[in-house]
Amino acid sequence: MVVKVSSAGRTFVLSDIDGTLVPHPFFSGLTNTQRAAYIERMLALFAREDFGVVTGRAEESFQRLFSDSNLKPCRPKFLGLEFAAVMLGRDEAYVTPKNFAPLNTLMRELAEATGARQDFASDEDLLTLMARGRIEGYLLEPKSRLAQVEWYFSDVRRQEAFGHFLREWLNPRLLDLPEITVQLFPTRVDLLERGFRPKWGFFERLPPGIFERLFSGYSRLVVLGDELYDSYMFRYVKTLQGGPFSRVECYSVGGPLPYADGTFATIAEALEQVEKWLQENPSSPSF
Ligand SMILES: [Mg+2]
Repeated sequence: MVVKVSSAGRTFVLSDIDGTLVPHPFFSGLTNTQRAAYIERMLALFAREDFGVVTGRAEESFQRLFSDSNLKPCRPKFLGLEFAAVMLGRDEAYVTPKNFAPLNTLMRELAEATGARQDFASDEDLLTLMARGRIEGYLLEPKSRLAQVEWYFSDVRRQEAFGHFLREWLNPRLLDLPEITVQLFPTRVDLLERGFRPKWGFFERLPPGIFERLFSGYSRLVVLGDELYDSYMFRYVKTLQGGPFSRVECYSVGGPLPYADGTFATIAEALEQVEKWLQENPSSPSF
């Protein structure tokens, strides 16, 4: 007997992680333990067929989300990593070119200029320090087509001084590197391959027809995020309205964003609504 699963009105939810479904590892000031309840609820979503993730995390850092949990590591049906470069499904992967050479060189020179060695080997080292209440230093994190420099000093003057040093160091070099653009945040600088739009560009590089295949049976796409790059993603996914989705809705978390159709005031509110949307999905067989 063939059992047909009704797909009328099914919703696929595609979400950012940090700052959207889980308090941000750096900016929220919460420890892993304090974030555990959020992480646990989010991980439960990963096993679903109707939930996907697009995050700035690298795969290693994504996998570490499971380390404090009793849940078995699993890959969401749709997983975009590093803002960008990799799109993974359960059984397939599309990897866009890594190692944008001018960025790598610049990051190496910056590491030398700031004392030959960065203070943190990874964002997880930084989290460990934060959990102990000691936040001092900076992180140079090369990703596929962008590199991030983040810094954390308990002394406000050192905090500002590092930002000042970084701008002074970067400005003359960037004049000679027209292939790199800069995005400034209060305690973070992103260096991007020119023309690369985080959380947007990789969608365009996927094989044609992939959305139709991955999302056949879904009529509505809901996308959530909390910062500028998510807004790029909102702008892109709206082009999917009319095919493969008849409805695309985008929501920001914590404050308004361009291209968002609405805003959740808190992460808790967003998480609750995501769970509700997915519960509404018809999952029982129809005959
Ligand atoms: Mg975020």
